[in-house]
Amino acid sequence: MIQKPKGTYDVYGEKGKQILYIEKLFKCLMSKYNYEYFKTPIFEASELFHRGVGETSDIVSKETYDFKDRGDRNMTLRPEGTAGIVRSYIENKLYGNGGLTKAWYYGSMYRYERPQSGRFREFNQFGVEAFGSNDPALDAEIISIPVTLYKMLGLKGIKVNINTLGDNESRNNYRNALIEHFRPHLDELCEDCKNRFEKNPLRLLDCKQDKDLEVMKTAPKIIDYLNEESRKHFELVQEYLTQMNIDYKVNPGVVRGLDYYTHTVFEVEADIEGFGSQNVLCGGGRYNNLVETLGGPSVPGVGFAFGLERLLAALEAEKINLEDEEQIDFYIIPVDETVKAYGMNVLNLLRINGFNGDIDYLNRSIKANFKTVDRLNPKYIIIIGEDEVKNKLVTIKNNSTKEEVKIKIDELIDYLDNQD
Ligand code: AMP
Repeated sequence: MIQKPKGTYDVYGEKGKQILYIEKLFKCLMSKYNYEYFKTPIFEASELFHRGVGETSDIVSKETYDFKDRGDRNMTLRPEGTAGIVRSYIENKLYGNGGLTKAWYYGSMYRYERPQSGRFREFNQFGVEAFGSNDPALDAEIISIPVTLYKMLGLKGIKVNINTLGDNESRNNYRNALIEHFRPHLDELCEDCKNRFEKNPLRLLDCKQDKDLEVMKTAPKIIDYLNEESRKHFELVQEYLTQMNIDYKVNPGVVRGLDYYTHTVFEVEADIEGFGSQNVLCGGGRYNNLVETLGGPSVPGVGFAFGLERLLAALEAEKINLEDEEQIDFYIIPVDETVKAYGMNVLNLLRINGFNGDIDYLNRSIKANFKTVDRLNPKYIIIIGEDEVKNKLVTIKNNSTKEEVKIKIDELIDYLDNQD
């Protein structure tokens, strides 16, 4: 038997309903926040991720699904959403009007990671990116999105951790301080950290393996290396968050796994007992160099992404049910196959007039069909027999009052429109 690839999963039943519910809620939230929908390809030129996400990130150095297409081009299944959106922003010259572009997206991402609870090889992210403004208020808006979403879903155990990496100057000063600090201790570090030391020493602070070493705990803190402008930016972000009643903590350990961040970075953690180690529900930050790095003009950007799977796991851990049961309007029962064609006519008539429902496709007995009715719980049951076909009628039964009437098919839509 052919099985699904490792680290992937199928969606059906309850899970499908939950996913649709979150999609609907996020879409609705995005229109309230005035973001515009973007969709970019699932595969892109490999170079986009190497230049964009960065050579030193685990995602690019160890986890991408790379392949050559039949034209011998190097392609990569997207491991995250930002690089593709930035590419699209540049390629379509959306910076042209000098204004703000606020984008949201949703889609599957691919990382060749070791599958474990909360970590998949194919997973889904919802995300937003805003280009064209360096206003710290926009950083606060971005942080407020997942907080609002989680609140709307009823999640209580969440913690917002923020940090700053400063602008280029501050980041460079900090980088040098880290190099000085870690150089004498290189032999204590893991192989990955030795590599990161050369390419991007900030990433040392992100290492899961070495995080308890003394040399990690005594590492210099970015806060002491910020120039005036970066300090001001970070202070304003905090002031706006406070004004927006968003609880947060400044956590110098948040540096994020991707190379492109500048200034504000943040993560939202699930603080739920027994939730497990994959507890970062979402992450993001400002990336003022990325548009330029990918060949565009110097335009600042800020964004975040959350994983669908971890959000569903957090909802389950807090025993939150996503109820979005929409009652169907009708269920049609043709008494036998001779009247099926007329049933199909009624079915289509109802659907094109905006009613949702179904017909019996298993050609079961009336008794068996009433079992289906119990399961589907439609508002109306429509029964089609010989008499209905001959006289162009339908028999329609209100499933809650049990009242049954025969009406002309031409009057069916008016009849339904006038019921409450
Ligand atoms: P990142 O793009 O690594 O900053 O991740 C952002 C969010 O995507 C995380 O907080 C998770 O919710 C989710 N995520 C990242 N990697 C995975 C994965 N392998 N499986 C499931 N969710 C993931």
